[in-house]
Amino acid sequence: SVPLGYFAGLGAASRRGILVKGAHFLDALARLDTMVWDKTGTLTRGEFEVVEVAGVAGAPVPPGRMLELAAHAELHSGHPIARALARAYGQPLDGRRVREAWERAGGGVRARVDGHLVVAGSPRFLREEGIAADLGAGSVPEAGETAGLPSTRGTAVLVAVDGRLAGRIVIADRLKPGTLEAVRSLRRLGVRRQVMLTGDAPAAARAVAAQLGLDEVRAGLLPEDKVAALAALEEGPERPGRAPAGGWRRPRHGEPGGPRRRARPVIAFAGDGINDAPVLTRATVGVAMGGLGSDAAIEAADVVIMDDDPSRLAEAVKVARATRRVVQ
Ligand code: ADP
Ligand code: MG
Repeated sequence: SVPLGYFAGLGAASRRGILVKGAHFLDALARLDTMVWDKTGTLTRGEFEVVEVAGVAGAPVPPGRMLELAAHAELHSGHPIARALARAYGQPLDGRRVREAWERAGGGVRARVDGHLVVAGSPRFLREEGIAADLGAGSVPEAGETAGLPSTRGTAVLVAVDGRLAGRIVIADRLKPGTLEAVRSLRRLGVRRQVMLTGDAPAAARAVAAQLGLDEVRAGLLPEDKVAALAALEEGPERPGRAPAGGWRRPRHGEPGGPRRRARPVIAFAGDGINDAPVLTRATVGVAMGGLGSDAAIEAADVVIMDDDPSRLAEAVKVARATRRVVQ
């Protein structure tokens, strides 16, 4: 049976807009030591704004047409990037022009629009689709290299039409108002390690991580890479010693002078996307955004933040600790 204090704790959390799906998640939150963040839609608003539409030399279509085709190719995507392209296009999208629409989570979309094969997404996704995106590297600079753009925070969506690179659409995102507070509060509460896992490009990811003072960033991750990264974090910081250069061997666990085995870290992961569901399931405490979050993420989560404000997480830790003091 669950002590009454836990129900009070779950109630206190829910009054702050934090839905906790079971008493033992409160217990884990009270002992939280590693916070893992998804970027887009979790730390950032996920409200992308198109800041640049640029064609490559010899593009199969002009930039305006490229935007029109890309916005239509994204018609069936729920990704914040899709909404940004639709807003930038500015005219109603016509579903009858779109056929064979397909999306790769954390990669991009492919669809037939007005009979043209349109592929839009990350440079890696385009390469996977057999488009020589690196051929355009000279004329399509990486996000972060464009003058006049707060571009370290920009994400480039490359667009190909009928198998040929047409150009890029650069979109920028902003931090949520509560994000900095969330990271700082958790640190004050003794969470010793905060990590960002993102499918976005390294330049955009590093800019956000530096702004927040996160301890680590892993960028360019596919959904399965996020699961692997989380599993690696679960192993904790201590790894059996590898031989340093010069042939010396570090002492191992149990040997004199060797690293001491630590308890497994208690890890929370916060994310919003469909592609976050596997990681949410895997983390000790999976946290989803209630408003922006995909249904799959909300379903897979242990904790749901109703108003999408990441600083709620620090409040949840405080409630969890207060609850534990009452219960024990
Ligand atoms: P995060 O892990 O930060 O939440 P995502 O995994 O949702 O980011 O997306 C990672 C990257 O994949 C994006 O930055 C973008 O380059 C590409 N991408 C994902 N979905 C789409 C889409 N619908 N259209 C274009 N690009 C996309
Ligand atoms: Mg996300």
